[in-house]
Amino acid sequence: MVKGVLKRISETDHEQVVYCNDSSSGLKAIIAIHNTVLGPALGGCRMYPYKSEKDALVDVLRLSRGMTYKASIANLNLGGGKAVIIGDPNSDKSEVLLRSFGSFVESLNGKYITAEDVGMSVHDMEFIRMETNHVTGIKRAMGGSGDPSILTAYGVFVGMQAALKKKLGITSLRDLRVGIQGFGKVGYYLCSRLHKEGAIIYGYDIDQSKLDTVVDEFGVIPVSNEELINLDLDIFSPCALGAVINPTTIKKMKCSIIAGAANNQLEKESRDSKLLLSKKIMYVPDYVINAGGLMNVASELQGYNKDKARYQVEGIYYILMRIFDYALANNISTLEASNLLAERRINEFAKWHH
Ligand code: NAD
Repeated sequence: MVKGVLKRISETDHEQVVYCNDSSSGLKAIIAIHNTVLGPALGGCRMYPYKSEKDALVDVLRLSRGMTYKASIANLNLGGGKAVIIGDPNSDKSEVLLRSFGSFVESLNGKYITAEDVGMSVHDMEFIRMETNHVTGIKRAMGGSGDPSILTAYGVFVGMQAALKKKLGITSLRDLRVGIQGFGKVGYYLCSRLHKEGAIIYGYDIDQSKLDTVVDEFGVIPVSNEELINLDLDIFSPCALGAVINPTTIKKMKCSIIAGAANNQLEKESRDSKLLLSKKIMYVPDYVINAGGLMNVASELQGYNKDKARYQVEGIYYILMRIFDYALANNISTLEASNLLAERRINEFAKWHH
């Protein structure tokens, strides 16, 4: 077992992986620090009832690597890391468990900075903060950045403008047809902005009450998920689930642009980004367009300033333009372009620093 675990870690390019085991609090967690060339590794802590420690390890290795790319392309002075707590957030969470996790974070002396993720709340961060200052995603009232969804949604809006400019030579959304999948925290704010801009919005949410709200407030035209994929849209915006873009859905898609907040939109990144390229559908890489949330928490590290965070999020427009140009010049997918530019920044910084 140990041999298998070490082999799995050594196959990746992670700097450090910490197994946190505290029988007195019941904590079993893994902190993965992928890369700290650009700065301390910031990434959320996920609490999930993983079936095995191996599943938890695979997840944290994958997620922490993703954070390295996201921070790099967002021009942040941060590296990539992530943590997972093995357990059911509804039944296994306690003050001592959270504080125990906080003391493990503290033992890393700021090399890893934690934040909220699936299964964790702003309230939980307050217990973690009792043991360490290396935590973000704190309530506004406590000097933190609060709910990141508003700025994430704003980043998606700005990203849509960049894609429209590049693909159609326009930035106005007036009378454009946009399909939104999921009207949760991000989808709702995004919808509100698009409505203000005069877009024609189609949408679906599995939660009928959420769909009813946006139909009432913003005149959203309700359709099914199947119809959303089939519609002749200017922009399709996945704001709910991962893996919604795969060979089956791509075959049916008639949209010009895909630009949404959901993480891991492509079922298989390399395969699906190439399929979209060959179909001339412009894919706006998910981890770039949804980086507003990370920018928001990252700004806590210098003392949260809402205007500054918003200004940074506006920069997503220029980051995307550079990605689109690079992809076009090299005849590669936008996702590949984004990955290469993110790696290039890390490599250049590493060379300069040594
Ligand atoms: P949320 O949980 O508030 O909203 C998700 C919405 O999707 C819910 O309304 C839910 O009912 C709906 N949904 C679930 N299954 C669906 C289905 N099959 N079809 C249609 N709708 C469905 O989450 P959120 O915070 O709005 O985040 C949305 C996505 O963006 C997630 O993938 C999240 O990881 C990603 N993201 C969010 C942030 C942020 O700041 N909140 C930042 C970066 C990325």
